[in-house]
Amino acid sequence: SEADIGLVGLGVMGANLALNIAEKGYTIAVNNRSSARIDDFMAMARREGLDARALPEADLAAFVRSVRTPRSIIIMVKAGKPVDDMIDQLVPLLDKGDAIIECGNSLFSDTQRRFERLKPVGIGYLGVGVSGGAEGARHGPSIMVGGSREEWRNAEPVLKAIAADFEGESCCAWLGEGGAGHFVKTIHNGIEYGDMQMIAEIYGIMRDGLGMDAAEAACVFKRWNEGPLNSYLIEITGHVLEAVDGETGRPLVELILDKAGQKGTGVWSAIAAQELGVPATAIEGAVAARSISSRKDERIAAEAIYGRPGAGGMAAAIDDLEKALLAGKIVSYTQGLSVMARASEQNGWGLQLSTIAKIWRAGCIIRSRFLGQMATAFEGDASTNLLMVPDFVALMKECHGPLRRVVAAGAMAELPLICLSSALSYFDASRQARGTANLIQGQRDFFGAHGFEIEGRGSDLHGVWPATIDKAAE
Ligand code: NDP
Repeated sequence: SEADIGLVGLGVMGANLALNIAEKGYTIAVNNRSSARIDDFMAMARREGLDARALPEADLAAFVRSVRTPRSIIIMVKAGKPVDDMIDQLVPLLDKGDAIIECGNSLFSDTQRRFERLKPVGIGYLGVGVSGGAEGARHGPSIMVGGSREEWRNAEPVLKAIAADFEGESCCAWLGEGGAGHFVKTIHNGIEYGDMQMIAEIYGIMRDGLGMDAAEAACVFKRWNEGPLNSYLIEITGHVLEAVDGETGRPLVELILDKAGQKGTGVWSAIAAQELGVPATAIEGAVAARSISSRKDERIAAEAIYGRPGAGGMAAAIDDLEKALLAGKIVSYTQGLSVMARASEQNGWGLQLSTIAKIWRAGCIIRSRFLGQMATAFEGDASTNLLMVPDFVALMKECHGPLRRVVAAGAMAELPLICLSSALSYFDASRQARGTANLIQGQRDFFGAHGFEIEGRGSDLHGVWPATIDKAAE
């Protein structure tokens, strides 16, 4: 038994992670259900001169035996049942103190369940979110670890070594027990949905409201990438917009069908937010927008009746668009962070928002200058509300006016701004000391005798309401 660590599942992600681990000087045992993939992997390792540190083992028991104890075994197979099947096969082969490190895109509640299941058996279970796609896995992903803290110590040096590096700090951290790592990864993806949708909304204003062509829009995004919006997503937006189709010579983006795919993590984060009772309108809006995008035929039919949005043009300053995007981003991150803070409270995870912001600064899809600011802001501040953190208060004061102008002009130009407009409403609602839920409470008492509160008089009070014909119980 001489491998430092083992890895089962040599698909796209697993193979790249394994090469990354070997490159950092660790010996890695590898296994895969179908042995053809093991051969492919070894050929790849040979090409990169890393095969000396890879131990291929087609037999699962022999694979487990080849790893140094206490063992750390990474599984990187398809999420869902394959993960449970893999755990069932591994557990009889493992010893107390060994750990299974599951790195796929698992639902955090599945991870929590697996963690609870293995706890009494004495086998550590780590549910790890890995962001950054295949490229990240190969050269440095952001790694969000959750699960057994003790067993984490054995794997820590390897996972920290393969993670992205941000100015000398590894973008890998243990965040909390059980499903904490996969929960944070899920919310990361939800935030990513919001970022992408808000960028797409601004692109829509440029294209349909301002009549800019793709190349002009690309120039603006490239410029923005030098400023406060500097981020991976803004950078790739510039590249996507400037790409030209080889066949027609037209901008590629104009040929791409406007139906967005989704694999589920956006929906998971929206559901998690709702279940926790935390508003996350940016995530919800982004998921809704992707669903609307998939109804192409209905959109075509409705445009024939109601006319084309943006047909009359729109006036907006490019500067305002930049600030609107920044304000939307502040609101969206405020929401995402408060979802994590509530989940942490409910599950006793002790999530540190500053640590999360730090490990998102490199390696993952939402990496940005903004996250660096966020990490700094949270370091000396225990609050979890980004809208109340001084640096962001100043930014929001500067940017909510532009957001307001963009949303107002967009609405008059009939352009859809699902995320940006809801971000603005969220901001306005959450800074309004006297809201309108007093009326809701009156209505609830009227039809269902649910009671209301009057300061100084107590709670569970009732009104004397007139009888109506349809006074049905709720
Ligand atoms: P691939 O489709 O490339 O590979 C899937 C792997 O799972 C293969 O090794 C396959 O083995 C194995 N597998 C599937 N079913 C079983 C089973 N029942 N028992 C044993 N092994 C099984 O997947 P990816 O590498 O893309 O993804 C792996 C995980 O990583 C997923 O959870 C995914 O969501 C996640 N992920 C993917 C990212 C990406 O950009 N692709 C980014 C971040 C996370 P076999 O060769 O025998 O079929």
